[in-house]
Amino acid sequence: MFADLHLHTNFSDGTYTPEELVAQAARNHLAAIALTDHDTVEGCERAANACKAAEIEFIAGAELTAEQNDTEIHILGYFLDTQNKKLLEEIAKFQTVRQQRIHEMVARLNALNVPLKVEDVIALANCRSPGRPHVARALVKAGFVGSLDEAFERFLKKHRPAFVPKAKISSQVAIELIHQANGVAVMAHPGLNRTDEVIPDLVDAGLDGIECFHTKHSTAVSEHYLEIADKYNLLVTGGSDCHGMSKGKPLIGTVKLPYQHVEKLKEAAAQRTLK
Ligand code: AMP
Ligand code: FE
Ligand code: FE
Ligand code: ZN
Repeated sequence: MFADLHLHTNFSDGTYTPEELVAQAARNHLAAIALTDHDTVEGCERAANACKAAEIEFIAGAELTAEQNDTEIHILGYFLDTQNKKLLEEIAKFQTVRQQRIHEMVARLNALNVPLKVEDVIALANCRSPGRPHVARALVKAGFVGSLDEAFERFLKKHRPAFVPKAKISSQVAIELIHQANGVAVMAHPGLNRTDEVIPDLVDAGLDGIECFHTKHSTAVSEHYLEIADKYNLLVTGGSDCHGMSKGKPLIGTVKLPYQHVEKLKEAAAQRTLK
């Protein structure tokens, strides 16, 4: 039995609806999935319903953007109470910042003589939690670039001219926000920019787990983070970070987390709810 605990839908920057995502999970014979859209839990109810029908275990989650010592860190929250008032209030603020940032990125592109229309990006994103991938897709759609990669490489990556940094919360605040919503806090894809030096601080802030298995982690990198998990007594998670179709096929199911890790995650969440 396997799980994929890092998945996106069109409630953030994924392209699948929750139902389409669950259909893909069923095709891949996954026993459990978690939805971890950026700064939103809106897709969780529909994904939960679709999972129930497909007899797949569902975990409500979200991926929050935070920072630690000036480094951007993504924190995954699992087993979140999706009705938690404080969580909903705070993510509404993150969404407002994301929406403003779309305007700023388009203004920068316009100043670079790329006449992308903000309405086109907003219409394409069609969600409360828009991000750079939506700007990239709108650039491709309007013919200003040939591919998503080109959009990021020329304009949207850090240090490129249309990059606008996101106002970020500290990782401590992110972890506390997840905890007060009965969730378990996990550091996402630590191997993406190899920022191991922040891990002790995250552990001090109450981090519960670390995403050892991820699409962009090689076997050696996964093993490295398994050792770190062991050292700091952290839960082990993993997922594909599927955003929909990628080079002809979706990533969902390509990272297979053994179900025993889901059991441990569930135990930790149950402990948290008792507190
Ligand atoms: P944002 O949250 O708006 O800063 O956008 C970050 C998201 O953009 C990530 O979650 C990825 O889905 C996507 N992304 C980041 N870098 C790239 C890249 N070089 N090519 C394609 N997608 C990317
Ligand atoms: Fe994303
Ligand atoms: Fe991420
Ligand atoms: Zn993600």
